[in-house]
Amino acid sequence: MAVPRHSHTRGKVGRSRMHKYIKNVQLNVCPKCKKPILSHTVCLNCGHYKGTEVINVLGKLTKKDKKAREKEIKDVEKSDTK
Ligand SMILES: [Zn+2]
Repeated sequence: MAVPRHSHTRGKVGRSRMHKYIKNVQLNVCPKCKKPILSHTVCLNCGHYKGTEVINVLGKLTKKDKKAREKEIKDVEKSDTK
């Protein structure tokens, strides 16, 4: 088995570990429903991407959930216009 000839200095170890830290996720705001979303992805709350509906999020919901979600989206649209 290979044995390391020299131990790494603290600086060398630090430079190597510099790239291993976890970066903060950059979140954008959905222009339709104002929920935080990842950039370049479809909003899973309202199913819109770049102003057009891509996913029908209301399709698979139960009647009760559907009503609540529709109301939530309408409230955001109303507050946006004021
Ligand atoms: Zn949205």
